[in-house]
Amino acid sequence: MVRVEMLTVGKELLIGRTMNSNAFWVGKRLALMGSMIKEITTVDDDLGEIGGALQGVLKRSPEFLVVVGGLGPTPDDMTLRGIGGALGLGLRRNKLALALIKEYYAKRGMAAVELTKARLKMSILPSGATPLRNETGTAPGVRLSVRGTVIFCLPGVPSEMRRMFRESVEPEIRSKVGDVHRCYVRMKLEGVLESSLAPTLSSELKRHPEAYIKSHPRGMRGGVSRIELDVAVAGTDREKVDAEGMAIAREMSYAVAGMGGRAAVVSGLKGEDI
Ligand code: ATP
Repeated sequence: MVRVEMLTVGKELLIGRTMNSNAFWVGKRLALMGSMIKEITTVDDDLGEIGGALQGVLKRSPEFLVVVGGLGPTPDDMTLRGIGGALGLGLRRNKLALALIKEYYAKRGMAAVELTKARLKMSILPSGATPLRNETGTAPGVRLSVRGTVIFCLPGVPSEMRRMFRESVEPEIRSKVGDVHRCYVRMKLEGVLESSLAPTLSSELKRHPEAYIKSHPRGMRGGVSRIELDVAVAGTDREKVDAEGMAIAREMSYAVAGMGGRAAVVSGLKGEDI
């Protein structure tokens, strides 16, 4: 599987000020592509922390690293300095990045805006980096290839991050991941305790080692235990993938019925499929 890691930067993520919704969103997006984030690291707005985290990621040689946050004009936005410093790359004014910033202001009727030091800061990139167009904000993103890892740096503002991810990151990751089909089934189980289900889950995972099978306990209602069960299978052979997803759903349904409970598929497959 293509290894993708994420590095999210910002004190607000560490002190409970901001939920790391960017990691949540990217994780889901990759899962829908048939891939997944292997590891997420979150660090403070601190050059040493950013550089150290980057070195740690590069040791694991992922194909892609998605870095989010800290590209803006304020002093606490230091992601590119941290990355440049850790890689021994100088930071330079990038002509294309500057053109993108000017274009952003011009399109909003602010062509005459003064290019202050803070605004120019957003055009200073590690040498060798390519700027990425930011359609909804000022700071361009960055693409940089280092020792077999493609690093994308995206802005922290969720709307900016999402648009840039879809337009500049996803096509490259998707072409590496290939045409992966994914079968996803969500089931609702009732009347069986998670602890009773555990041995069934173990044998099912042994029978289908490549599948993802995960129970989510949803408490008791009227003395009846409720569990949501997620099943996901990914692969290049669509028929085989769907057949395996259905087989797991069917096997789980029988097992739950055998324990005196009830199971129903609530999304992903139609009732008649199992
Ligand atoms: P800008 O260029 O707009 O300043 P930036 O790249 O500098 O963006 P930050 O300053 O780090 O980004 O964050 C901008 C906003 O986005 C903040 O309100 C921050 O809380 C939010 N944000 C940053 N990272 C995340 C994240 N991982 N998940 C959700 N929101 C985030």
